[in-house]
Amino acid sequence: MKRQLLCWLLLWTAAATAQVRFEEHFFDRTMRFDFYHGGDSHTEHYTFDALKSEPYWAGSKRSLVDTTNLGNQLFRIVDAESRQVLYSRGYCTLFNEWQQTEEATRMARSYPESVVFPYPKRAVVIEFYSRDAKGKFTQRYSQQIDPESYWVESFTPRYETFDVVYQGAPDHRVDIVVLPEGYAADERAKFEEACRGFAEAMFAYAPYNRLKERFNIRAVWAPSEDSGVTIPGERIWRNTACGANFTTFDSERYQTVADQQRLRDLAAHVPYEYIYVLSNTQKYGGGGIFNFYGISAAHNPGFTGKIYIHEFGHLLMGLGDEYVGTTAYDDTMYDRKLEPWEPNLTTLVDFERKQIWRELLEQTTPVPTPTTEPYREKVGVYEGGGYAAKGIYRPAQQCLMNSFRGVEAFCPVCQVAIERYVEFLCE
Ligand SMILES: [Zn+2]
Repeated sequence: MKRQLLCWLLLWTAAATAQVRFEEHFFDRTMRFDFYHGGDSHTEHYTFDALKSEPYWAGSKRSLVDTTNLGNQLFRIVDAESRQVLYSRGYCTLFNEWQQTEEATRMARSYPESVVFPYPKRAVVIEFYSRDAKGKFTQRYSQQIDPESYWVESFTPRYETFDVVYQGAPDHRVDIVVLPEGYAADERAKFEEACRGFAEAMFAYAPYNRLKERFNIRAVWAPSEDSGVTIPGERIWRNTACGANFTTFDSERYQTVADQQRLRDLAAHVPYEYIYVLSNTQKYGGGGIFNFYGISAAHNPGFTGKIYIHEFGHLLMGLGDEYVGTTAYDDTMYDRKLEPWEPNLTTLVDFERKQIWRELLEQTTPVPTPTTEPYREKVGVYEGGGYAAKGIYRPAQQCLMNSFRGVEAFCPVCQVAIERYVEFLCE
C-alpha cells in the first residue's frame, strides 16, 4: 500500500512539473482578469470587465499547470505565439450553483467573477472552460491579453494589514488572507481575536495540524460602515466591507459573496491564494467556493472552528459535502450518470478514477459498505452523500465534510486528498 502511494505521488508530481519556467514567462506579481459570468440554466456567457495589476504573486512558481481535474470550471493562460499552456487552474463559481436553481429555468442573471494568474511577460490568450453534459471540459470563451496595455489598472492600497501566522516564502506556502465582514471601525480588537481563533481552529484538526509550516495567514483590516451581517430572509440589510449575504438561493444558512471582484480588491493588499471571510455574527452558517473564497460565522457559540474547517475544505480543493440533504432539490445536485470530480464522492460510474479512495479501501471491505459496527472506523463506500440518500456514496461513516456533532476529524480520504493538494500548491 505504501509503495503504491509513493509511486502515485511521484507520477503526479512529475506530471505537474513537466512545465514552464516561471522566470521566462512571468513577472513576480499578479494579473487579474475581471469579467461577468452570466446566462440561465442552459446557457453560459462571459463578458470582459477589466484587467488589473496586483503587487504580489503568492502561488507556486513550479506547479503552474493544473493536472488535478478538480472543479466545474477551468481557465488556461496560453502563450499567444507558441500556443504553449503557461498556467491553468480549476475552480467553481456561484453562477454554476445558481444555474441549478429553479429561478435559472425562467430568467437569466450574471455574477461578477475574477481569476488571477502570474503577470505575463508577453501577449497571452485566456481561455475559459466549463464541463459539458458528459463532464468533459469544453471551451466557452477566449480573449487575447496584452500585458503592456495602458488599460491594465494598477492597484492602490487602502487598508492596514497584519500577519496572523507567518511560516515563510509565499511560493512554498498556502497563503490565506482573512477578511472582515460586518466589523465596524470600533471592532478591530474583536476581528483580531477572531483571526487568532481562525488560525487556532485550522491547526487543531488533521491533516492541517501536520501541515502547519505549509501555511501563511494574513489579515486586511477593512472596517464596515455597519456592524453585523445581511440576512435577506429576515429583511436585515447591512452596509459591509465584503457585501456578503445569508439566504443564498433561499437557503437559510447559506452565506455567500456574490461580488468576487470586491473581495479581490480587499485581498490584494497582501500575498494571497485563498480568501477566508470572517463574518461578524453568531448565526450558524457559511459557504465555500473552490479556488475563490470561504465565509462563515466567526462567533457561533457551538461550532465556529468546525465550520471554518468544513468550508475551507470546499475552498481549498472542492471537497464535496458528504451529508444527505432534506429537499427534493438536494437530491438533484449530482447527475447519477456521471462520476463526480470531487475526491470524496462517487456514483460508482467510474470509481477506478478515485485513486486515493481505492488506495485506502481494504480489499475485504464490501462495496457498497454497510453502515454497521465492524466497518465503523474503516474506509468504505457508504451510500448517502452529495446531498442525496441514494445513488451517491461517501468514503466514511463520519467526516467533518458530513457532520460536526461528535466528529473531530476529516475521514482518511479527505485527509490524504488535502495533504497531496497542499504539496502540489507548495512545490
Ligand atoms: Zn471525508
